[in-house]
Order: sequence, then structure tokens, then C-alpha cells
Amino acid sequence: MKKILIADPLSPDAMGKLESFPEFDVTVKSGMDEDTLVATIPDFHAAVVRGATKITSKVIDAASNLEIIVRAGIGLDNIDVEAAETKGIQVANTPAATSISVAEHTFGLMLAAVRNHGKANLSMKEHKWEKKALSGTEAYGKTLGVIGFGRIGQEVAKRALSFGMKVIAYDIIEVQTDLDAQQVSLEEVFAQADIITLHLPLTDKTKHMIKDKEFDSMKDGVIIINASRGGTVDEHALLKALESGKVRAVGLDVFEKEPPDEFELVDHPNVIATPHIGAAAKEGQKRAGMEVVSILKERLA
Ligand code: NAD
Repeated sequence: MKKILIADPLSPDAMGKLESFPEFDVTVKSGMDEDTLVATIPDFHAAVVRGATKITSKVIDAASNLEIIVRAGIGLDNIDVEAAETKGIQVANTPAATSISVAEHTFGLMLAAVRNHGKANLSMKEHKWEKKALSGTEAYGKTLGVIGFGRIGQEVAKRALSFGMKVIAYDIIEVQTDLDAQQVSLEEVFAQADIITLHLPLTDKTKHMIKDKEFDSMKDGVIIINASRGGTVDEHALLKALESGKVRAVGLDVFEKEPPDEFELVDHPNVIATPHIGAAAKEGQKRAGMEVVSILKERLA
């Protein structure tokens, strides 16, 4: 019987399915730090994580029976993939499962930013009625610049097109798509976009891809949305651009440090912020969980 460690919670449907297989012995134990994991992991043939549990090289060293690590979600930032692969441990994830959840959340942040929903909500909770001060703009007719035109970027583009927006996109590769979106250079995105949304992985190349110089080349009053990875945008440069009015409003789901220990950005009145909940929708989590089950069924021999 193969022993599976669920180190971060999976959706109830996925748990039910996994536990229904007689060949699997499933243990749920979440919130483990490195030392606890090191002590726990030797028993298991498979480990399932989301974003919270860190599978470090020390954990991998201790994993004498581990055959596979599965991440329910996309990023593999919390797994030392190189150490795992060197030891012959497979690493898998579910990259497409939550794309719609994240795209919808991105769109929510964008609409909130253009219409001042964050400020309006706070103002109402102070029992104020500030109709004039809270006037915003429409998304209709505006140019959306999508940086990173992969799965989520394209889902966002689809929704923007249905809102009557013009979509331009920049990616490091030429993306094959039927969407009515022109693929342009990064400079053209900065020059033309009224709203810029990032859907990039965090790599050496994308770290601080948007900093002072890039903000300077954007339109005055541009809106920035980031539901990809904190660190793609230089947060200090973003704060400066907000303070100068170069950037009119910002929607953020991700931060350089999570949870943040500096709150100047979050506290800025023109920032609407959420705590990395882009993928946290029931349907997306169900899809991710069910994909994890299929991966384990197929690959855990
Ligand atoms: P994807 O791999 O489908 O798309 C990413 C795109 O970025 C690719 O087309 C790739 O070519 C492009 N890219 C990579 N490096 C680039 C560079 N230097 N310049 C320009 N383009 C570059 O990924 P996805 O599923 O669309 O996810 C996008 C991002 O969203 C990832 O960072 C992912 O971690 C993040 N994400 C966030 C949440 C959340 O909860 N907020 C949830 C899931 C995913």
C-alpha cells in the first residue's frame, strides 16, 4: 500500500476520491515546519502540497521512500525541484486548474480599481456618502496591456474583450491564439496601455521587471494589476509612482513578502489589496484537487 501525505489541505471532493482507493493510505497533516517534515517524510511514498508547505533539500534528503511530490496549483517555488529530481523523485503540478479563478479575480481587482470600490467600501463603513469623490472611469474602450500572455493572461484577455476593451499583449514568445489581441513589444505596452495586468512567473528575468524606468514610460494615470507573483513589480518604485500620481490605482493579490511586513503600499488609498486569493475559489480548488488524484493514480506505481 502506498502512503500519501497531504501536507496542505485538498478539496473535500479530491480527499473523498483519494480515500476511496484501497491501494492508498492517506494521512492529512498540515502546518508542518521543516524539522517536523524531516521527521515525518521518511514514512511516505507521496507528498501533496499547495503553497504553504516547503519541501526543502533537507526534507528531500530525509525522504527515503518518496516517489512523487505533487503541488495542487501552479508555482513550484516552495519545492526544491532540483534536489528532488537529482534524487529521482518526480515533481508534478496542476498548472491549468485555477486559471479561470485567477483570471476572474484579476478582473475583479481591475474593476475595483477603475471604479474605486476599495475606497468606496471603506468610506461607507465610516458611514459616509462620498458620491462625487468616488467617481471613476469605465473599462469599456480602454486599452488593456497584458504582460505574460499564457493561460491566465489569455483568460483575462477574453474577459476584457467581452467588456469592449482593446487588448494588447507582450510575451517572451509569440503566442498562438485566436483572440483579437495584438502582440506587441513591452515598450508598446507601456506606451499604449491604460491598464496593465501582469501574468508572469517570477524568474531572474522577470524580477523587478517593472521599476522606476518602466513606470516613467507608462501613460499618466495608468492602472496596474498584479495577481501573478510579488517581485515582478518593484514595490518601492510602485509606491513612488502612486505617490506622484503617475499610477492612478493599483490592484494587488501578490506581494514581494507574503504576508507583507511593510504596509505602506497596502495602506495607500488608491490600492486595493487581497491576500493572494486568486486561486482560492471552490471550483478551481476542486479542479486542482481532482487533477492531483489523477496524477497520483497514474504515477504512483
Ligand atoms: P503560464 O506559464 O501559462 O503563462 C506565463 C507566461 O509568461 C508564458 O506565456 C511565458 O512565456 C511568459 N513569460 C515568461 N517569462 C517571461 C518574460 N521574461 N517576459 C515576458 N513573458 C514571459 O502561467 P499562468 O498559468 O498564466 O500563470 C501566470 C502567473 O500567475 C504565474 O506567476 C503564476 O504563479 C501566477 N498565479 C497566481 C495565482 C494567484 O493566486 N494569484 C494563482 C495561480 C497562478
